[in-house]
Amino acid sequence: MYKIAVLPGDGIGVEVMAAAKEVLTAVCNQVGSVRLAFTDYPAGATAYQETGTALSDETIRACEQADAILLGAMGLPHIRYKDGTEISPQLDLREHLELYAGVRPIRPLKGLSPRLADPRAAKIDFVLVREQTEGLFSERGKTQVKDDAEARDALVITRKRSERVFDFAFRLAQRRRERGRAGRVTCVDKANVLGSMAFFRRIFEERTKRFAGIMADSAYVDAMALNLVMKPWDYDVLVTENMFGDILSDLSAALVGGMGMAPSGDIGDQHALFQPAHGSAPDIAGTGHANPTAMLLSAAMMLEWLGDRNGDAAAHEAAGRLDSAVERAFAGGRVVPYEFGGTSGTADITRAVVASLTTGGATSGSPSKW
Ligand code: ATP
Repeated sequence: MYKIAVLPGDGIGVEVMAAAKEVLTAVCNQVGSVRLAFTDYPAGATAYQETGTALSDETIRACEQADAILLGAMGLPHIRYKDGTEISPQLDLREHLELYAGVRPIRPLKGLSPRLADPRAAKIDFVLVREQTEGLFSERGKTQVKDDAEARDALVITRKRSERVFDFAFRLAQRRRERGRAGRVTCVDKANVLGSMAFFRRIFEERTKRFAGIMADSAYVDAMALNLVMKPWDYDVLVTENMFGDILSDLSAALVGGMGMAPSGDIGDQHALFQPAHGSAPDIAGTGHANPTAMLLSAAMMLEWLGDRNGDAAAHEAAGRLDSAVERAFAGGRVVPYEFGGTSGTADITRAVVASLTTGGATSGSPSKW
């Protein structure tokens, strides 16, 4: 029995989390030997409004003690701290639990209209790894404002934190190569302008030497923004600084349809949290239009991570079944999310995925899609 700390959060986070629990329960019942015990905990802007605390000690303790954490989305534009910043306890959790690798797999699903006209777009299959314990976000809440005339946020790069995220990216590329992918890591930086980024690239080049057989190259972030639109099918694993990763994540999600299609795992050495790459989407909250796919694929990533960590073949099987059920649900064109101009909402897509679980059977070989 795995203890899952569930933080639905705000806005559509609550809606897509309900979908995830329903689908996870269905797939675990089907596999039989994987059991998940969900416990909900308050966190986010609504919790802050109701209790005065966005992330309570009880919620933090529950996350520390859980086998894995599922998070919906957090933050609402009209509920803010007194200094005007948005409530983002997910960022505090990343730092507190040392969830240093933000893992965002990007691949299109068959049956949905492609965003890019080039037919090679069907082959897009890369993973963005975002360092998320330092970089330009490290000074969050510590901005120095001088005489209302100047504001400064520092970009912090440390050797230790850079090495661990590069090693994570190289190990991921090794694992993907075993499954037929290119075995290539591209470091995304701004080493031509900032000394901190030149340091980041130098450490990347040092670490490449430890991973024989994996190709390594580097690109400036501005060029990468261009290339991710021009030829995203060229990439395998990208690794980058916190803020660049934040921006490129949304660009990457757009390549495969939108925020509702982009799953994410926040992974550390001791803990891991799985959440869709999107926010609370207040513009569509309550309409039933939210696409739960990113949340469901994040739930599949959680099962796979639990399988890896615990040597649990049944959890791997559940991950594979869930991933395949999502693929099959869209493949026939019967459900089309609002993001793609369709009329399938959260409930329709959830129902379609649960239905395709029963029509699918077990997947063969490795379940991994990242
Ligand atoms: P954050 O900064 O908290 O990540 P954000 O400002 O990037 O959030 P989102 O909440 O992710 O914004 O929303 C961006 C856009 O994507 C909005 O138009 C929203 O409606 C849309 N969107 C986000 N998630 C989904 C989803 N699951 N289904 C459909 N549309 C979505």
